[in-house]
Amino acid sequence: MGEDVAILGLGTMGAGMAANLLNAGFSLSVYNRTAAKAQALIGAGARSASTPAEAAKNASVIISMLADDAASREVWLGKDGALAAARKGTIFIESSTVSPAWVVEFAKLAEQQGSDLLDAPVTGSRMQAEAGQLSFLVGGKDSALAAATPVLKAMSKEITHLGSVGSGAKMKLINNFLCGVQVASLAEGLTWIERSGLDRDKALSILKAGAPGSPLLAAISARMASQTYTVNFLLKLMTKDLLYAQNEASQYNVDLKTAEVARSLFENAIEQGFGDKDMASVIEPLRNK
Ligand code: NAP
Repeated sequence: MGEDVAILGLGTMGAGMAANLLNAGFSLSVYNRTAAKAQALIGAGARSASTPAEAAKNASVIISMLADDAASREVWLGKDGALAAARKGTIFIESSTVSPAWVVEFAKLAEQQGSDLLDAPVTGSRMQAEAGQLSFLVGGKDSALAAATPVLKAMSKEITHLGSVGSGAKMKLINNFLCGVQVASLAEGLTWIERSGLDRDKALSILKAGAPGSPLLAAISARMASQTYTVNFLLKLMTKDLLYAQNEASQYNVDLKTAEVARSLFENAIEQGFGDKDMASVIEPLRNK
């Protein structure tokens, strides 16, 4: 058995990441608030932990993959939280998309107990998590990254060190700001195409092959066209990312007006019941108008 690793959060992303850690031979403890989501991993050899503290206590590396700042605070600092239970020298890896301000606060708390935090959010979605093909955007000390690299490698195709703690979180919010705005504009553009009398498939082929074409446009337009909203990326999480991006950019006196408009489309979709569906469903309220 390899090094002791713990993973906190077995949602869309965490489940695939955990499976790749097991495949790579790490001795893995898993915690998820909804315990049922751990069953398949326990069947595959992971140890079940009923609290974050239980998962953390023997680990040399602890990864969290949780919804947002509130979830991360709860799992690390709340009742039976992972931070207080971890051994001195354990490396903490926050892979959730969270606020840089929370990451910096968390890093100070980690340091006070003799541990290092890496912020290592990811690009790639459910399929890349399952295939061990994520890209990690890392902030933190060189020494901590060197120690955590075998663990990160088991889940990824690429690891980019961007600078000090908080750098990964900042880069991730910039990345998802551009993604969120593109998905919102695609929802409007595709609704327009559908009402315009143009052939939808021909129109999408032109967009995909032309200047606006991107991997995101290709993937999301296919889901919008077929109305397939099986979750790859929850719509409510993109709404959260756009809000965090706006808050972060405002620290630099950058007013993300396009994020504000995009977020209003996502919030409208949440009000209409699409929050727990894939983010591509942001088109449905526009189609129904
Ligand atoms: P998800 O499927 O919604 O999973 C969220 C996880 O957070 C679950 O384990 C959930 O537990 C846990 N959680 C939420 N609130 C909690 C709380 N208050 N206390 C304890 N646990 C809590 O989300 P995901 O798609 O895996 O995404 C995880 C993170 O990665 C997010 O920050 C997301 O923005 C980011 N991300 C996602 C993608 C993607 O394509 N999906 C890509 C890149 C980055 P339960 O199971 O009990 O609800």
